[in-house]
Order: sequence, then structure tokens, then C-alpha cells
Amino acid sequence: MTFAQLGLSQPVLQALELKSYTTPTPIQEQAIPTVLEGRDLLGIAQTGTGKTAAFMLPSIDRLIASGKTAQRKCCRMLVLAPTRELAGQIAQSARDYSALTTLRTQSIFGGTSVSKDRQKMMRGSDVLVATPGRLLDLIDQNALSLAGVEILVLDEADQMLDLGFIHALRRIVGLLPQRRQTLFFSATMPNAIKQLADSYLSNPAQVAVRPVATTADLVEQKVVLINQDEKQALIEMIFRGQYSPAGEVVNALVFTRTKHGADRVVRKLGQAGVRADAIHGNKSQSQRERALADFKSGRTKVLVATDIAARGIDISGLSHVINYELPNVPEQYVHRIGRTARAGAKGIALSLCAGDERAYLRDIQKLTGVTLEKLPLPDDFRSAVESGIEHGHEANSRPPRQDRGRKRHPNVRITTPQGKPAPRRNEGDDRAARATGTDGARPAANHPGAKPARSGKPGGFKKWSGGQNRQGGKPAGRTEGGENRGGNQPMRRRRQGARTTS
Ligand code: AMP
Repeated sequence: MTFAQLGLSQPVLQALELKSYTTPTPIQEQAIPTVLEGRDLLGIAQTGTGKTAAFMLPSIDRLIASGKTAQRKCCRMLVLAPTRELAGQIAQSARDYSALTTLRTQSIFGGTSVSKDRQKMMRGSDVLVATPGRLLDLIDQNALSLAGVEILVLDEADQMLDLGFIHALRRIVGLLPQRRQTLFFSATMPNAIKQLADSYLSNPAQVAVRPVATTADLVEQKVVLINQDEKQALIEMIFRGQYSPAGEVVNALVFTRTKHGADRVVRKLGQAGVRADAIHGNKSQSQRERALADFKSGRTKVLVATDIAARGIDISGLSHVINYELPNVPEQYVHRIGRTARAGAKGIALSLCAGDERAYLRDIQKLTGVTLEKLPLPDDFRSAVESGIEHGHEANSRPPRQDRGRKRHPNVRITTPQGKPAPRRNEGDDRAARATGTDGARPAANHPGAKPARSGKPGGFKKWSGGQNRQGGKPAGRTEGGENRGGNQPMRRRRQGARTTS
């Protein structure tokens, strides 16, 4: 299925090309044709499923098709979101998806200047993304009217209720025209939400992406507590059969946080003699199909993927799923590991958890009710990583000048004493980077001159001795393709943070 087959217009299709989206996610496949027809929609889906595009893309087409223009102090499409982070992300997506149209998107949420928001409303907006509190403030100040709304989207309705927005919501919906299209999304559908949906929707189509319940019984779930910059060395050992607690790998799907990260893992595995491929949004359809076919046929034993790329493609029955990085949305973990376990046989889900990912691990264990079995690092792992001797990378590579005489594991980055990446001897020639396994992009965390990692940022991470988050900070935001997406803190933290938002 392609986006064109779903009936989207050319400007939207071109914007998707610019975003490198090639294949619709399941919720997009289901929702887009329905929304294009003008029907109300009840969507049961959580963040990370591609639900924003599922409602935004067809709505953009409907706004264009209706031929109206945004009046002063009015909006044509209103998207309500529970938190300012989510509102900001939705607005950015709306801008990206409508980049080749004349539609105007605005966002308003608490914590920013109200007077600026008042000014923004003067010209009117085609798409307005708002948190409920700030929206009502502006309505009460006569800076905004909802009388012209053609489409209402209620996103993360369950979180809205959790955060106590029910009265605000009722007031807002009471101010909307009766004749409108309503799209209602919630990750869960308890009775209170169902009742709310029934009262706002008229004969809705219902779409749901695989509800997440419990983790598959047949999957052995394990975790290794490890420093971020040691993960590559460990997976190389796993794929070479040098780490017995992980079991024998027949084939493995490895999840990374970013496309760039996926490429880097593949490149380094290749240098270590392990055949691997990556699939992510920057790969063309034919590259993805080839990677998948090679993986399914056993030509490659390791496929490295980002969540969104792995979604919607049929890879199941794996011996291993390896979380090179933990997902920030715990439900995503369940989706990932659901791909292991061959018919009747056990599969292994192994998570590599760095110090700044501990909160994600806690959220995963809370959601699934399973305590992941902690595996020890191999004996002498740290000294082996430090020396880099047994990984065999030195054989065909020569360290750059400033590092000669010191042997390092390829993942140990070479930096200047100020913590800056060491300059390559010859720009455009990445021999130095290959020799050291660095991408020359970031300073080594453990170099005496390195800047201490900012709280909660991945990478730049001090040696972990015993599972404590030395940074004491929040986990870093998860990104896909460099975007900050769908809630960049664990659920619990997002909720706490959200209370002050509007
Ligand atoms: P959402 O569930 O709306 O928060 O989307 C999650 C992430 O997936 C966002 O970073 C989107 O940009 C990305 N995304 C959505 N749809 C697609 C698609 N069809 N292909 C690739 N990436 C997508």
C-alpha cells in the first residue's frame, strides 16, 4: 500500500516524499481513506504509531477541498492536545505536511506569552493546535472564536481526562459548530473515554492498531546494564557467539533510536565481520525490500531498524530482538519483542540499558509486569573494551597519528584535550574514522578533557559502575529521523510534566 493509493493529493504526497515516508503505517492505512470521506473517526492508538499523520494528512486535503479561507480570530481545524510538547510536535508535523500548500498552522499552549498568542490569532489559522487551558484563555479574552471550526481533533483523550481537562473539554466542544468532522484518538478506551467519544462523535468509523496487552509468554526477556559507548562491543560479541548468556543467534532484529544510529551499528558490525543491513526512513523502497528479502532468506543474520521502519513490515519468528536503545514509550517495547519466538520455540529479547535509560526500563517493567532478567557483562569486558585487543579491528587499520601507540576499542572516540572531535588528517577521507571506528562526531565521554554530559543527554556518558544513573538526569528524548517526536519522556514523567502546561 502506498500513500498515493490512499487517495491523498499531490501537494501532500510531495511533502511526504520530502519527509522520506514511503509506506503508510497501519493506522494511516485505516484512517486516511475514512477521514477523506468526511466521516467521524474513533482511533485507538498510542504515540509512535504514526497517528498524527493519520489525522493530519487527510484533514489537510479536506481543508484544501472545502475552498474556504481562515477568518480573522477563527480557525478551521482545531487540534486539542493535553501537553505543550505534544501540541508543539503536532503543529510542526502539520507545517511539514502542508508545506506545499497555502494553509497556515498556529499553535498555542501554556507557559508562553498570552499577548503574543492573541496577536497570532488576529489573522486566523487554517490549523490551530492548542492545549485546552490556553485555548479557553484566548476565547475568554475574545481573541478567538470557534464558530468556524470544520474539523475537530481530540488527541490523547485518555491523558486529557487523566490531567483533569474534562470540564475544559466540555466547554470547548460546546462552543463548536454542530456540523463538523470529529476525529477522536485515545491510547486506551476505558468506559469514561468511550462515553466521551459517544457524546462527541456521530456514527464514527473505528480504527485500532494492535492493542498492547501483555508481553508474549514465549519470549525470554533479559537486560544488560551497560554504558552507551560499550554497547557496540557487546553486540559484536553476541553476534560472534562470544557471549553465551544471550544464547545462539539465528537471526536478530536490532532496534536503534535513530536512522543515523542504525547506519552506524551496521557499519561497525560490517567492520567486525558481521553481515548486517539497516532499514529506516532514509532508505529507498527497493533498498528496504532488498534488505528484508536478504534477512528473510538468511543471507543477512542481523537487521538493524528504527521503530517506525520496522512497523508495518512482516518480520516475525526471530530468535532475537535486541534493543540497542530502549524505547521511551513502554508499549513500543511490547511491539518490538512481539516479533521474537518462532512457532513453539522460545525467543530472546535482550535490552541494552545505559544509565540514562533506567527510567525507560522501569516504565517497561511496570507496564508489562515482568522484571527483566539481568545478565552480567562478560568477564573482563571493560578491560577488553578499553584495550580493544580481542576485537580484531586493528589488523587492517592504522590509528591516526595522535593515537598511535595507544590501542583502543573502535567505539572509543578520539578527542582533542578540549573534548572536541579530533580533526581528520584529510577531510573527505574517513580513514582516520575507520581506523578508530569513530564517526568523528562526538567527544569521548571518558576523556579527561571531555565536557561532562549534559543531564539526560545520550552519549557523552561516564563509566557506569553498577547501574546507577550518575547523571541523575532524565532520559534523553527519543527521536526518529532527528525529530523530537511523540512524547520524549517516559509516560509517567510526561504526565507529571504536563500538569503545568496550559
Ligand atoms: P506519531 O505516532 O504521530 O507520534 O508518529 C511517530 C513518528 O513516526 C514521527 O516521528 C513521525 O514523523 C513518524 N512517521 C509517521 N508516519 C510515518 C511513515 N509512514 N513513515 C515513516 N515515519 C513516519
